[in-house]
Amino acid sequence: MKEFHCGSLVPGCEWHTRHEEEAEVIRRAAEHMREAHGETVIRESMVEAIRSRIAESRNAA
Ligand SMILES: [Zn+2]
Repeated sequence: MKEFHCGSLVPGCEWHTRHEEEAEVIRRAAEHMREAHGETVIRESMVEAIRSRIAESRNAA
């Protein structure tokens, strides 16, 4: 599982997501950026920032 915590990019945000596929984690994170943080355009630099913060989840549950 891959997981992304928005708080690693936007301090104070509690939102996080997990999925088997990194691409899906990025897609969900981009959607969250639009809806919660008013990012109307998701730039490549934003995608890279998200990607670099995605961690492998070792939690089997
Ligand atoms: Zn957030």
